[in-house]
Amino acid sequence: MTATTPVPAAVSARGWGWRYASRLRWAARGIDLDIAPGERVLLLGGSGSGKSTLLHALAGVLGGDEEGQHEGALRIDGAPPQEVRGRAGLVQQDPDAQAVLARVGDDVAFGCENLGVPRDEIWPRVREALDLVGLDVPLDHHTNALSGGQKQRIALAGALAMRPGLLLLDEPTANLDPEGAVSVRDAVGRILDRTGATLVVVEHRIDVWLPLVDRIVVLGGSGESGREDGSAILADGTPDEVLGQRGAELAAQGVWVPGIPPRHPAPPAREPGEALLETRGLEVARVTGRPVAGPVDEVVRAGEVLGVIGPNGAGKSTLGRTLAGLLPPAAGVVEATARLADGAGPAPIRWSSRQLLTRIGTVLQSPDHQLLARTVRRELEVGPRALKLPEREIASRVDELLERLRLASLAESNPHTLSGGEKRRLTVAAMLATRPRVVVLDEPTFGQDARTWAELVDIIASLRDGRDGSEASAVVAITHDQDVLEALHARVLRLPGGRG
Ligand code: ADP
Ligand code: MG
Repeated sequence: MTATTPVPAAVSARGWGWRYASRLRWAARGIDLDIAPGERVLLLGGSGSGKSTLLHALAGVLGGDEEGQHEGALRIDGAPPQEVRGRAGLVQQDPDAQAVLARVGDDVAFGCENLGVPRDEIWPRVREALDLVGLDVPLDHHTNALSGGQKQRIALAGALAMRPGLLLLDEPTANLDPEGAVSVRDAVGRILDRTGATLVVVEHRIDVWLPLVDRIVVLGGSGESGREDGSAILADGTPDEVLGQRGAELAAQGVWVPGIPPRHPAPPAREPGEALLETRGLEVARVTGRPVAGPVDEVVRAGEVLGVIGPNGAGKSTLGRTLAGLLPPAAGVVEATARLADGAGPAPIRWSSRQLLTRIGTVLQSPDHQLLARTVRRELEVGPRALKLPEREIASRVDELLERLRLASLAESNPHTLSGGEKRRLTVAAMLATRPRVVVLDEPTFGQDARTWAELVDIIASLRDGRDGSEASAVVAITHDQDVLEALHARVLRLPGGRG
């Protein structure tokens, strides 16, 4: 870049901690950290260990005293982060949850406008940022026409246009197919080579990022089984030091360590059983008249996992919603067998939401779109209440799910305040509460650490096999996560690249 190249930022933390006002436990506490200008740090830690909280603090957006309590000091170039906003550029965890404006140019310019950058300076910055992320689309291109990988690069461009000396990336590739992940990683690499900016990147699946980073910092120790006073730094060093010397210990904390795969459940004990759902000549469309995938001819059976894979934009989520009775087929049919329909008629799209509850359960890709209630406990009660189950039954189902999905300590928390991984577990638990025979899961393991990953995979396996006296279910799992498919012995349906 030119004379406008940002000066790389230095970070320091001394006894830093933060407790959200609504929580008893500190999200992080006793953090001591020095990051030199230009260092490239991979920040790891279990689900809910405070990684996003630390990035928000560094970006100066954590909120004031009414939102929580802080302790110790956090500095960027010696100044409190909220006094030097713009020195840090944050790309948040879930790109769908961020303000995405209708046009690419406006979206990338948004951060600069917030910072009060003069208008005639904004557009050159926007073009430069788009060039840096390697995205060659017109400024008036519609953002909703972009693939997941392109959206992630738009978010990255928005942060870069602010010319940050510190780039903060929160799980930037978790939602992407493997090629999308590599292309975003490469874009970040080019940016760092040209700007020299300091990097802190959070990602669970670290293989993609290892070639780019020179240091790993691990947060941990919080959570149900850990210290009551919040996460601290568990490990800090070069990737070799941290993963090589302390790999086993960190894996036990839930960190994904290359070469230490998480535990897999037992393979299915029986052959797949009765057919529950069939498709014939099925084509699916988000918008009427523009099919994105199909034709699909499949029989979904109890006792098996059907894995749906394919690149970003191939129509996997659209297929999932159509199978789940939430979207009408664009062509062809989705038909429930008599066993599944149980008197409700053959077309799931005609079922009432109450009929769906015990027949087909869905977990959408973005948890925020699915959370309805004021507390975690109430969220889990929504389905059982709609079924008018007796109070005692509701309470026992909900308590069991809170335990199994490691959410018990969050029972009275507001679902929207959970970490990304906690939200994912909550939407899975809420779906399980009505015990549907068919479950459609869109990226079920997104945002999970190795420990919660293994727990979720175990729950899916027990649904498939019908353990504990319940009938075997059929599972449709849409995923980029190859390990999930292997662990569950899934039959795989691959959707080819996007059309339309
Ligand atoms: P990570 O990114 O490591 O998964 P987070 O930083 O998102 O974890 O969350 C750390 C802890 O703080 C979790 O227990 C989470 O539930 C809690 N938390 C996160 N955001 C909020 C919020 N806005 N209000 C209350 N608690 C929160
Ligand atoms: Mg997070």
